[in-house]
Order: sequence, then structure tokens, then C-alpha cells
Amino acid sequence: MSSLAATMVVDLRSDTVTRPSPGMRQAMAEAEVGDDVYGDDPTVNELEAEVARRLGFGAGLFVPSGSLSNQLGLRLLVKPGQELVCDHTAHVVRAELGAAAVFAGITTRTWQARRGLLDADDVASAITPNAGPYLVSTAAIAVENTHNFGGGTVQPLAAVRAVQDLGRRHGLGLHLDGARLWNAHVASGVELDQLAAGFDTVSVCLSKGLGAPIGSVLVSDEERIAEARVWRKRYGAGMRQVGILAAAGLFALEHNVKRLADDHARAAWIAERLGAEPDTTDTNIVVLTVGDAASVAAAAREQGVLVSALGPTFLRLVTHLDVDDAAVERAAEVLAPLLRR
Ligand SMILES: *Cc1c(COP(=O)(O)O)cnc(C)c1O
Repeated sequence: MSSLAATMVVDLRSDTVTRPSPGMRQAMAEAEVGDDVYGDDPTVNELEAEVARRLGFGAGLFVPSGSLSNQLGLRLLVKPGQELVCDHTAHVVRAELGAAAVFAGITTRTWQARRGLLDADDVASAITPNAGPYLVSTAAIAVENTHNFGGGTVQPLAAVRAVQDLGRRHGLGLHLDGARLWNAHVASGVELDQLAAGFDTVSVCLSKGLGAPIGSVLVSDEERIAEARVWRKRYGAGMRQVGILAAAGLFALEHNVKRLADDHARAAWIAERLGAEPDTTDTNIVVLTVGDAASVAAAAREQGVLVSALGPTFLRLVTHLDVDDAAVERAAEVLAPLLRR
């Protein structure tokens, strides 16, 4: 691609494509650091404490990716040979490449969920707690909020509470994949600690809409986080002077949470322009059902607009920090005629 064309690229494949802003890079350059495996990095310690505080938990653990954060959380709640239940398009079961099975010996069972929306009756039909020596016993439930492949769906709080009640009644662990919990907070107005309350382990990403180049934080109680810290090292993700990365996360928490509302407004705008199903764009992810997703994505790419074809007819557009009004207008201009074909 020529450099002129490259400057006109509008990248809506994911909110992971953001690049650190000058202010964020400045914060990274100035970060105080130490050896985090020794617990000596003050910036990492501050980030872990700050995320735990915001989510209402006792401790946090900084890890390179949301997948690792989820996987550490899950292995604390489910023993080898036991079962995790989640919906059929959950990130933990669809996009982590079988990690729960490979590393923790966890089996999974799923329920079908429209747009990823949580429903306690669906969960009740999927669980088999205390199944004895004959069937696989369910040990934990995973909830995703917002729901990525569901289209950025915000889980209704009443449904979350109902699932938590069900889990507690059966002695099940509760994990929240809150990669985009920030978006759920901004879109719903529900406080972060309320969205996280009632779960045993919660994973949040700094590298999605918040715009940090890397990083997720797992929060839980101190005992579980101490155990997760051991497993993080065992998995090879004990990191040293990573205050330079944690500083990006702290910068993101301070500057990039409220502005997610702009991403949501732009997503709603383009959803309407492109004729997405009404009321299906809660946050920054737009899902379109098209005739042939791969060919639409390829044709849009020719014109410098990048979108994801995540299934034969499933097209996903994600707004973020690095797309402004002009960029979404350009995307709509390119995509609208391709969708009419
Ligand atoms: C992005 C994402 C993750 C983690 O992804 P990584 O690429 O491993 O950081 C986890 N859950 C959901 C719902 C996500 O969208």
C-alpha cells in the first residue's frame, strides 16, 4: 500500500489496534520501575492496587494479556477434569485456543445465547454441580461483560445477579471476563464495583478501548492473587521492569475511561448508517449480518477500511481511540455501497 493510502486507513478490526498517545508515551518514559518478580516495581504495584480498588477487590495481578488473566482466574476456580460453563461464543471458549483444556485440564460446556445475553435459565440448564463419580461436575460459571462476539452487549445487572445466585446456591465459582467492563460501566452508568461485585475473579483489559499497548489485570482476594502470582511465573509471564507498561495502564485509567462514550456514540452512528439491527449496538462494537462477510471485508480493505469477517455472514466493526468522526464517516461511505450489493 502506498504511504498516501496508508495515511487514509480506517482500522475498525478491533479496539486492540490503538497506538499509545504522546501523553501515554511520556508517562511510560517517566515511570519509576523495579523488578516486579521481586514485587519491587512501584508502578506495577500502584496499577494493581488501583484496579483492585476500582473494582472493589482486595488484590490485583498485572499480566501481559486478557487471555492469560482469564486463564489464571479460571484455573483458580476449576480443578483438572472439572467443568467450566459459559455461553457458546464466550471469548474464553472461542478465542483462547483451548487454553483451559491445555494448561488446566478444564472441560467446558456451553449454552446458546443470543447476542451473548446472559439468562439464568440458560445457565441452569447447562450446569451439573456435584455430579458424583459418573458425570463431569461443574465447578464454575464464566460471564462476559461486555460481550465481544455478541456485539459489545452490556449484560443486564438483574441477569448477572440471578446467575450469581444460581452459582452460589450450587457452590460454583464465578469468573467475570470483563475485558471491556469499562465500556459496560460507561454505557450503563452502573459503577465498576457493582459490575464486578459477586464474582470470585475478574479480568479487565487495558489494551482494548483504554488504549494501552499491553496489559490486563486479574483481581480477586489476596489469597487467590498470591496463588495466581505463582502460576503467572510458572507460565513464564513473570515480568521485570514493567512499570513502563503499567504506567500506560495508569495513564489509560486516568484519561481514557470517560471518553469511551465517544466510541459508543460513533458506533451507534455507523450502526444506524449501515442498517445494523436496531438496538443491538450497546457499546463500541457493531455487528452486521451480510451475504458474504469475507468479500465485503476484502472490498473495503481495497479502499482503506479494515473490518473483521468473524464468520461467513458475520462482519464486526469496532470503534476506538484512534478513529474520529471523519474516520467513521469515511468507513460508512465505503461500506454502505458494498452492503447494498
Ligand atoms: C480481547 C479479549 C480478551 C483478551 O484478549 P487478549 O488478546 O488475550 O488480551 C478476553 N476476553 C474478551 C471478551 C476479549 O474481547
